[in-house]
Amino acid sequence: MVGAADKKENEALNDKTLVFPAPPLVVVPVAGGDTHFAVRRIYCVGRNYAAHAREMGGDPDREPPFFFAKPADAVVVALPGQTADIAYPPMTGNVHHEIELVVAIGKAGRDIAVDAALEHVFGYAVGLDMTRRDLQGAMKEKGRPWEIGKAYDQSAPIGPLHAASVTGHPSQGAIWVTVDGAERQRSDIDQLIWNVPETIAHLSRYFELQPGDLIYTGTPEGVAKVERWQTMVGGIDGLGEIQVRMV
Ligand code: MN
Repeated sequence: MVGAADKKENEALNDKTLVFPAPPLVVVPVAGGDTHFAVRRIYCVGRNYAAHAREMGGDPDREPPFFFAKPADAVVVALPGQTADIAYPPMTGNVHHEIELVVAIGKAGRDIAVDAALEHVFGYAVGLDMTRRDLQGAMKEKGRPWEIGKAYDQSAPIGPLHAASVTGHPSQGAIWVTVDGAERQRSDIDQLIWNVPETIAHLSRYFELQPGDLIYTGTPEGVAKVERWQTMVGGIDGLGEIQVRMV
């Protein structure tokens, strides 16, 4: 693969030959054991629930899925029964929560057919696509990239991965998030405009998917501001809950 050292090259790369230490692996724990999922890339789907597409000024009936990305090290793991802290990000006065079903890819592929797509899924998790909405909006207006709104540090909280071999492939179930106990978003993952197999099929036409890739599949309606010291609790039926505090 271009840009990535192969195994033999890796052996020659060490503390003596790297000018700085390699960044730490980004991992998400797999529920129910001691194993971890090493994160390669984070892909995200825009406007994938009809009511959210409308609240963002789009037309849910006519738009094919579109994608953006976050760096792997935007991940913050929220362990069950614990509160994960994320820092209120700089250069913004309007940070939004977006509760999302996250798909973890376990098998490489490109141009994946819809009816073969689930074979490429390792598992699922609850995630938050945190967004500096003011910056995203300003970039949107100018036709500029969304990175400063979407791809910032600690913008991708996630709970443990649930292996599809254990939990199956959820195609329906409640998805919700509360902020300081007040419900903000509630829908059902059966309301996804482009479901998981369709999303994988579309995305794999643009990028060769690899084990380690995460796909944040989009958020339902009700996105809103989170202030410092507020706590978000988000969940999806069958995948548990995550608790994340802005500090
Ligand atoms: Mn999103």
